[in-house]
Amino acid sequence: MPLLGAHISAAGGLHRAIERADALGCEAMQVFTRNPLQWHGKSFSESEIDAFRRAFLASGIKSVVSHASYLINLAGEAPVRRKSADALKAEIERCYQLGIDAVVLHPGSSKNMPPEEARGFLVSSLKNVLDGTDGLGVTILLETMAGQGGVLGSSIEELAWVIGALDWDRRLGICADLCHLFGAGLDVGTEGGYERLVASIERHMGLDMVGCWHVSDNKGARGGRIDRHAHLGEGQIGIVPFGMLAADERFRDTPLILETPKNGPGDAGNLALLRKLRGSW
Ligand SMILES: [Zn+2]
Ligand SMILES: [Zn+2]
Repeated sequence: MPLLGAHISAAGGLHRAIERADALGCEAMQVFTRNPLQWHGKSFSESEIDAFRRAFLASGIKSVVSHASYLINLAGEAPVRRKSADALKAEIERCYQLGIDAVVLHPGSSKNMPPEEARGFLVSSLKNVLDGTDGLGVTILLETMAGQGGVLGSSIEELAWVIGALDWDRRLGICADLCHLFGAGLDVGTEGGYERLVASIERHMGLDMVGCWHVSDNKGARGGRIDRHAHLGEGQIGIVPFGMLAADERFRDTPLILETPKNGPGDAGNLALLRKLRGSW
């Protein structure tokens, strides 16, 4: 079964995120290693790295993933691409220092250029980053997106094409975001729809390419190209795929990260629901 967890705030120091996740009983956790709305993060001191590694080891958390900055666009115009590649390399180095195995990345946006040109830039930028971080052992997980406004990565097929264009480099994988896939038009709210999604991942890339799942309900309509995150069961998706995924033995030890709002039932409530659902499938 997947490792249940959530995106956790690193306010007060990155090691605090581990403590918060552990207190919630998380088995996995996602974190920002720096402000996701800024280009540059400060580098960590020895004592910060030490505090994080120690907290990680002492906790019940088995897997930590980082989420890269929202500003990164590996498919953008030349100056943005260069800046983005540098920022992603720095992120991978931070992950390596901290002992984090994977970084979740938004594949980028074509903005004003034709999508095929943008996809080509995404591939060349990823190649640059992979070459520049060889040996660090950090996997880049391309996140499935809702596809609003020229955003790349709104289908499994497109992500498979990008990874295939990089010769199926072992340091690439995907982060399957159910809220985004629903926004992109996939019928993930039913048993059949969930199984079709899993079959499609298997056919196009193999299930071992899923390095992480993102889980939240969507207030927006299926195919509406928007992702308005909602508590599980309080949006248009409903609880079916979340229960199926939480109990799915095919994704054993894959992090399942809640990206639900922090208000109302919060992470504790959504985790409790996932644990209950897991037992009923
Ligand atoms: Zn994301
Ligand atoms: Zn996500």
